[in-house]
Amino acid sequence: QPELTGDFGLLMSWVDKFRRLKVRTNADTPLDAQVARQFGAEGIGLCRTEHMFFEHDRIMAVREMILSEDVEGRKGALAKILPMQKGDFLGLFREMKGLPVTIRLLDPPLHEFLPHTDKDIDELAAVMQVQPQLLKQKAEFLHEFNPMLGHRGCRLGMTFPEIYDMQVQAIMEAACELVKNEGYEIVPEIMIPLVGHVNELKVLRANAVRVVEEVINRYGIQVEYLIGTMIELPRAALTADEIAGEAEFFSFGTNDLTQTTFGLSRDDAGKFLPFYVNREVLAEDPFVVLDQEGVGQLVKIGCEKGRQARPGIKLGICGEHGGEPNSVIFCHDNGLDYVSCSPYRVPIARLAAAHAALLEK
Ligand code: PEP
Ligand code: MG
Repeated sequence: QPELTGDFGLLMSWVDKFRRLKVRTNADTPLDAQVARQFGAEGIGLCRTEHMFFEHDRIMAVREMILSEDVEGRKGALAKILPMQKGDFLGLFREMKGLPVTIRLLDPPLHEFLPHTDKDIDELAAVMQVQPQLLKQKAEFLHEFNPMLGHRGCRLGMTFPEIYDMQVQAIMEAACELVKNEGYEIVPEIMIPLVGHVNELKVLRANAVRVVEEVINRYGIQVEYLIGTMIELPRAALTADEIAGEAEFFSFGTNDLTQTTFGLSRDDAGKFLPFYVNREVLAEDPFVVLDQEGVGQLVKIGCEKGRQARPGIKLGICGEHGGEPNSVIFCHDNGLDYVSCSPYRVPIARLAAAHAALLEK
């Protein structure tokens, strides 16, 4: 592993003697992953795949997929992105050299992917060879007033299963190629976002397993894999025992869990929270420092119920709190296995993890 040098490196080497928590990173590109590894990240705890789809050809294909008439149309659109998506995962796996990599299946608010202008519609209609008016009507039908409370996360995987199938295929083909041709040892971790009910996970897990097995059989090799979920809705935390029956790991998405527990939009919080903090209604911005009395209690319940149902279930956190020192201490105290944070926060998370272990003594 590339190491930090000088005094900083020395400090970090001391820190690592004490900490129990592993520290992973949130990274979507090989470059982020490389930076994080230089800071000592021990894996990727969250690869958000949304950003991989914003480049023009890809967003066109996703729009085509969403607005297609039938399964064949959806599959055809996604087939155009599959090789690129596989390339994305090859890059990340290579950079991480066998360290754990958790890839989250697509979790966009749908409105980010819908065509926005008449020009978008016309371009798409030409590709799909349909009337622009028809696409416009469909896009209008899919418009939502509260996209963050709507058709996002695993709900998208339920309505358009082909998109998750394509992503799982890309993940597993990338992993199998590296195992078979380059001697890598990789255990891909496939993560399903925004689960609120165990039945969502049952359906999506079964779909994912079907695709994974198909790819593994095609390559004729043995590759282990894990399928897990984000816990980022209060209902998921409260029913974590049921959910653990279908998940080999949990990753607490404390950004959404804070949003949904407070009922406060994370996108607009900056306009309102400073007022509360200044007036001492809240001591701190809960999107920055984990609210231990409320959101933290849901994390705690999620851990306990998860462990009851599946002893040894792997537990992590990948919300922004994973790199905030007080929140890291809370994660240590609740027996999480790892925290995951943005690359530049990895050193502070390592330090906080050691601090937590020392506080315990
Ligand atoms: C979260 O909700 O905490 C999370 C990590 O997911 P995202 O920020 O991508 O919604
Ligand atoms: Mg989230």
